[in-house]
Amino acid sequence: MNDRPFNEHSYEQFLREGKIMGSKCKKCGALALPPRPICVACFGSQMEWVEFTGDGKLVAFTSIVVVPPAMAQEGFGRNHPYITGVVELREGVKIVARITGIDAKKPERIKVGTPLKAEFLQRGEGPGKERILAFKA
Ligand SMILES: [Zn+2]
Repeated sequence: MNDRPFNEHSYEQFLREGKIMGSKCKKCGALALPPRPICVACFGSQMEWVEFTGDGKLVAFTSIVVVPPAMAQEGFGRNHPYITGVVELREGVKIVARITGIDAKKPERIKVGTPLKAEFLQRGEGPGKERILAFKA
């Protein structure tokens, strides 16, 4: 698995296997999630894979009422909003993901700093089945 290229495709492949994998620069130690082939900090190109714990906290969020088609298929919409947020992982990397386990109809009750844990949501059936990374409060 360690010879996979450092890109979105590998990242999604790992998600399907239930792993959150990012890249770590061998030169300066900077982390990237999703992984990148070139370090954003020092432009080094020697990378290694690191598995993230999936523990994090909520940094910012939005309640989504005008939903994309894939989410409408899951039953979300004006009367059933969902939350998208910025999650800061324990490793110090930020990622945008869907937030679950929070009442999206009462965004005023949602607190920045809420601890979150990664979970994997299934979307679709058969060969087109996807595994999506979300964070549960
Ligand atoms: Zn670097």
